[in-house]
Amino acid sequence: MTSGIEPAGAGLTLSPGRRSAIRRRITTWAPRARRGHSLPWRSSNDPWHVFVSEIMLQQTGAARVAQRFDDMIAQFPTPGACAAAGQAAVVRAWVGLGYVRRAVALHNSAEIIVTRHAGAVPRSFDALVALPGVGPYTARAVLAFAHGVDVAAVDINVVRVLTRAVTGRTLVPNELQILADGLIPPGQAGPWNQALFDLGATVCTASAPDCPHCPLATLCAWRRAGSDAPDPHRKPAVQKRFEGSDRQGRGRLVAAAARGAIVSGRLASVMGWPDDARRARRVAADLVAEGVLCRDAVGAYHLA
Ligand code: SF4
Repeated sequence: MTSGIEPAGAGLTLSPGRRSAIRRRITTWAPRARRGHSLPWRSSNDPWHVFVSEIMLQQTGAARVAQRFDDMIAQFPTPGACAAAGQAAVVRAWVGLGYVRRAVALHNSAEIIVTRHAGAVPRSFDALVALPGVGPYTARAVLAFAHGVDVAAVDINVVRVLTRAVTGRTLVPNELQILADGLIPPGQAGPWNQALFDLGATVCTASAPDCPHCPLATLCAWRRAGSDAPDPHRKPAVQKRFEGSDRQGRGRLVAAAARGAIVSGRLASVMGWPDDARRARRVAADLVAEGVLCRDAVGAYHLA
């Protein structure tokens, strides 16, 4: 199948024996450790369901998405249903999942899938990254999980496992992608990517890797280097505080608008900043500019 992704070319290479050993250890470990029972999107390979799950997972934790995924699919079971429901319905369903721009992107993507792709989630990398809100990671995840293309979805968990276990050194993104693509057992992109996610999320964690229970323990480059060796996994930037942030105010306003129109005099209190009307107006104006909200003739805010 053609994915549209360029071949990796020259890059990191593993000896065939080491690559086989890593594949064997992980594929033997994965069925015992699978988190699939608690992650409902894993029980479907319907391309649209995969697409929705990947948009939801972009900036929302798996546990939270797990609580909301089935409802989202029940409301918008196909791209056509999502497009026809209208943007406001998708934004309303999204309340509580954070970063509402993704709801707008999901609806816009559904419209494009219907009008330009005959209602089918695209099967090429280029067509996927052309959809709103879809970057290279999401496109690869959709190709692997929905269409069975042998490409790696390299999230933070996978970065941690590969840099610690396989190379023992920090890698730049292109090196990581080449390495990760080359490790996939042919035809197994879906279960392989999930196994690496699970290994990073449950065993090779950021602060307390459980090396004694890791299937890669005897192969792990970082472990072999000794306990004094620096962790090759680069720590992610510290997330900005949510409490009191613009993001929190945005979420409150969208949630309130999902229940009904908000007159401008109530903006600041709805957003939790009763003494800062100016800030409230600025953040509300951003949501209008992004097409999430609109204003009616009397200046009240509604879902667009
Ligand atoms: S042995 Fe430890 S550091 Fe190495 S991959 Fe396994 S959990 Fe991570």
